[in-house]
Amino acid sequence: MTPEEKKNHYHKIRMERKKAQIDASIARADSEKGLLLVITGNGKGKSTSAFGMVARALGHGQKVGVCQFIKSRTDTGEEAFFKAQPNCEWHVLGDGFTWETQNRDQDIATSERGWAIASNMLQDPSYDLVVLDELTYLLSYDYLDKDLVLNTISERPGMQHVVVTGRSALDELRELADTVSEIKDEKHAYTSGIKAQKGIDF
Ligand code: ATP
Ligand code: MG
Repeated sequence: MTPEEKKNHYHKIRMERKKAQIDASIARADSEKGLLLVITGNGKGKSTSAFGMVARALGHGQKVGVCQFIKSRTDTGEEAFFKAQPNCEWHVLGDGFTWETQNRDQDIATSERGWAIASNMLQDPSYDLVVLDELTYLLSYDYLDKDLVLNTISERPGMQHVVVTGRSALDELRELADTVSEIKDEKHAYTSGIKAQKGIDF
């Protein structure tokens, strides 16, 4: 065998082994259920990851509900795009960031109004996917009752998927979740003085 033939030969053996391992692991992962995903951490990409799953679900003809807590802006590209989709219900339920409202009672009242809409979705099996964008802050600031929120999520319809985004997800939420991604902040354009960019940040 030439060195090149030898290389190809061993590559083929390695790939055969790898394929057997992957096939076995796919065969083991044979159950289905509604998942709870938590996308947390300080890096950029939490909400946009959730919106990627919204696009996937809609592409399959599924029904999706999105609740955006905290934020009050309604001029985002994602809202303009997804609100125009017939199977997507989109709610902007925030009053702005806590450092903007500076009013805890107002934040709690806003959170409770928003939660009423979210919890209706979490009890309605017609929603295949429910996104609770920035929900983590409502729990870490204690604006909503943690047990009530976690119980409502646990008791949702069996095949309903839920995505929760936001920094500093509570341990109990991480434990309840099936998939948790912690997005790390390595660098962000904003710290070099670049303002939020249309299409990238909103
Ligand atoms: P995105 O909506 O872009 O996926 P995100 O959901 O991960 O971001 P949020 O905490 O919701 O992050 O913040 C939203 C806005 O803040 C976006 O404009 C985003 O680019 C910006 N942002 C996110 N992470 C950072 C960071 N580490 N430093 C500075 N700005 C950030
Ligand atoms: Mg976000």
